[in-house]
Amino acid sequence: MMNTVNRQSSKQIYGVLGYPAKHSLSPLMHNAAFKALGINAEYKIFEVEPSDLENFIQLLSKEKISGINVTIPYKEKVISFLDVISAEAKLIAAVNTIKVSEAKLEGFNTDGEGFLRDISEVFDFNPTGKAIAILGAGGAAKSVSVYLAKTTPKKIAIYDVDKIKLKGCLGHLNDCCKAVEFIAAGSIEELGIEESDLLVNATPIGMKETDPLLVDKKFMRKGLLVYDLIYHVQETKLIRAAREKGCLATNGLGMLLAQGELSFKIWTGRNPPREIMRQALLAAL
Ligand code: NAP
Repeated sequence: MMNTVNRQSSKQIYGVLGYPAKHSLSPLMHNAAFKALGINAEYKIFEVEPSDLENFIQLLSKEKISGINVTIPYKEKVISFLDVISAEAKLIAAVNTIKVSEAKLEGFNTDGEGFLRDISEVFDFNPTGKAIAILGAGGAAKSVSVYLAKTTPKKIAIYDVDKIKLKGCLGHLNDCCKAVEFIAAGSIEELGIEESDLLVNATPIGMKETDPLLVDKKFMRKGLLVYDLIYHVQETKLIRAAREKGCLATNGLGMLLAQGELSFKIWTGRNPPREIMRQALLAAL
């Protein structure tokens, strides 16, 4: 696993840890950023099997790896191996960014803040007092919900096909964010999309052309904002349907970019070259 790292080089090594991780777009944006700022660093893919996870994390500092992004399925699992966890990552109970120094491993979560930044930028949307509907109750939904909750929306309704996951997610959110009303929707109908201000797709449904449209167009109306976290597809079926009904809708590329910018700043202390990172992502899609 570690033989991909050149131990002799003074080059700083960063990367994304996941299983699988091959299709990650993060190397493109971070390597473009390092090049633009003249930083002698390389961002790699570390596809690590579950049985190697602990060993990999423990060797980060020894192997001179300076920073890691964490993706599926390790965002929760890495927490027990870290020395310090940021307040946000603690609230979300998941880490997507690790800063490595000889003294310690620090965990952060930049997904939720990346999402908030992007809805503000793309939709000029302030969630305070608003009604929000979320499809999916996995890791991304949790990050997004915790950050939305910080802005005290009126309510957040969440639906997931996996009722156990939904219960776990709602239990977590009710514990950590008491000022907000969270609703566990038993069906898409119960999400109350007709009265919502923002609909978020935090499921992977929409990545494949053969995937179904998750929300019937009859629930959509002009004024509803639709944010699909999927970023590999320019216009998912959900986005297309929403636009046809006159809604503003976007994919998750802006969130991917924003969470990457935040990770870059944590690792290097430098302001990320946003447009260069965005162009690197767009060129790949
Ligand atoms: P995850 O942990 O697997 O959660 C997805 C959840 O959606 C699962 O609980 C899944 O249930 C559920 N689901 C599947 N089909 C559904 C349906 N038809 N209706 C309702 N719920 C359904 O995945 P994640 O990490 O949260 O990621 C979710 C999506 O967000 C992915 O597409 C990912 O690429 C994207 N994402 C984007 C960014 C960004 O920066 N733009 C960041 C993070 C994630 P089952 O497990 O039973 O299938």
